Amino acid sequence: MTEEFTPLPAVVRDVYDVVVARNPHEPEFQQAVHEVLDSIVPVLEAHPEFVANGIVERIVEPERQIIFRVPWTDDAGGIHVNRGFRVQFSSVLGPYKGGLRFHPSVNLSIIKFLGFEQIFKNALTGQGIGGAKGGSDFDPRGRSDAEIMRFCQSFMNELYRHLGEHTDVPAGDIGVGAREIGYLFGQYRKVTNRHESGMFTGKGVQWGGAEVRTEATGYGAVFFAEEMLAVHSETFEGKRVAVSGSGNVAIYAIDKAYQLGAVPVTASDSSGYVVDDAGIDLDLLRRIKEVERGRISEYVLARPDARFVEGARPWEVPVDVAIPSATQNELDESDAQALIANGVRAVAEGANMPSTPGAVAAFQKAGVLFGPGKAANAGGVATSALEMSQNAARQRWSFSDSEAKLRAIMQRVHDSAYAAAERYDRPGDYVVGANAAGFERVAHAMLAQGVI
Ligand code: NDP
Repeated sequence: MTEEFTPLPAVVRDVYDVVVARNPHEPEFQQAVHEVLDSIVPVLEAHPEFVANGIVERIVEPERQIIFRVPWTDDAGGIHVNRGFRVQFSSVLGPYKGGLRFHPSVNLSIIKFLGFEQIFKNALTGQGIGGAKGGSDFDPRGRSDAEIMRFCQSFMNELYRHLGEHTDVPAGDIGVGAREIGYLFGQYRKVTNRHESGMFTGKGVQWGGAEVRTEATGYGAVFFAEEMLAVHSETFEGKRVAVSGSGNVAIYAIDKAYQLGAVPVTASDSSGYVVDDAGIDLDLLRRIKEVERGRISEYVLARPDARFVEGARPWEVPVDVAIPSATQNELDESDAQALIANGVRAVAEGANMPSTPGAVAAFQKAGVLFGPGKAANAGGVATSALEMSQNAARQRWSFSDSEAKLRAIMQRVHDSAYAAAERYDRPGDYVVGANAAGFERVAHAMLAQGVI
């Protein structure tokens, strides 16, 4: 992606050059650092003490990186070895917090980009949580429940020693949902002899999980888009929406878009996308993806008026709002131009860094309301922090109370990104606003806690 990067101002250029030299084969990590450094230049100009105290030099280096072997046996007795990762990026605001991703594409670059983003996202929520990310290059697709369980147990046999409710609290991400979290938590409990509810979030609601955590990221992304539209006196009512992905984030983004009167018309997976002009049949989608763990192409077998487009992404479909909710760099500049040509009004990133730098620049130039993942998908981790609070207090809040709290948090996240953009003379630029507001909070805490 480096060809799309714009040159950085002098105040951050040296730091970026060190990041590139020190992490030479990590394009996603470099991309995430570039984006943040580019946006915080006005903050550094306003706060020379951040520069004098080496805040930026320190924040781009993870506090700790753990890489480990994960051996496991398949149902036929064959032995496999995967690689496990946990990058504990910053604990200055609270225990490390961030999900685990199981996907064959996982490598150190991807985990570091996600961990880096997580620091500022978590800061933006206003809660006391640090930033981390982890996972493995394990591919859960086509594996039996017993194989998934053995993999999760082997993964936790190493990771448990680095976790704890005051140390590091993982959650789910791509390929890690309720089933995997159950197996991971179970093994942690077994090897530590502690039923420590607060060491994992996204748990089943029957055993310590919080209401609305499952829905939180997708719902939150729609709430964020709703806030952006409200600034311009618009609503979701009657709007066509393109969602990519068909996993946890996508499903609940579709669900909430319907509740707000919109018509979500697309869903996708890594094989292609479906477009259903009558509106995505959410029950059908959930049955295929959550119950049968099938492929998106099966959708059109039950909905003959819908179309499956193999090997493509849904951005060519005319819509008013786009919510990319699958993976990083899934929406490039030409996709952005197609959406703009079709009159898209707002883009809210449900996934982490789904838009390439060229796509972001195109949206901003065209005046499209653009909510970066760091802000728009912060509802997931924010609700995880609510789960931690409930676990610590041994309480359980109702669905409606929890959703009201999520709604209020997304409004706060929106307002603080919006206000920071105004403060730094970039009105309406939520990328600058989110990065600046998150960074300011982290930087003040680092300043207060000394050089460690
Ligand atoms: P899921 O595993 O539930 O779903 C992922 C979806 O994205 C699947 O439809 C998957 O299709 C698709 N996908 C994954 N990789 C690719 C790829 N390389 N190309 C095309 N499609 C792909 O994950 P989530 O819904 O939890 O996560 C989606 C995104 O949201 C990620 O970027 C994640 O980091 C982000 N996110 C998630 C949060 C959460 O609470 N879950 C919180 C904040 C951000 P297939 O099955 O074919 O791989």
